[in-house]
Amino acid sequence: MGLFSAEKPKQYEIDGIKLVCMFCKNDSFYTRKEQLHSPTRTILNLEWTDETATCFVCSSCGYIHWFMR
Ligand SMILES: [Zn+2]
Repeated sequence: MGLFSAEKPKQYEIDGIKLVCMFCKNDSFYTRKEQLHSPTRTILNLEWTDETATCFVCSSCGYIHWFMR
């Protein structure tokens, strides 16, 4: 068992729409939560938020899909 074997990629739906990788059309993803505390937040004028973004990482190509809600 390696470091990254604990989590298995899964399929997800957002608002009834199946999540598919924009890049390679793969449909299974790893998830992770990312805290938005980078300068990017200031640039985007989102200082008033203290949001955590949900990232879906394509299990095939590694493309990261970000969702904030
Ligand atoms: Zn992909």
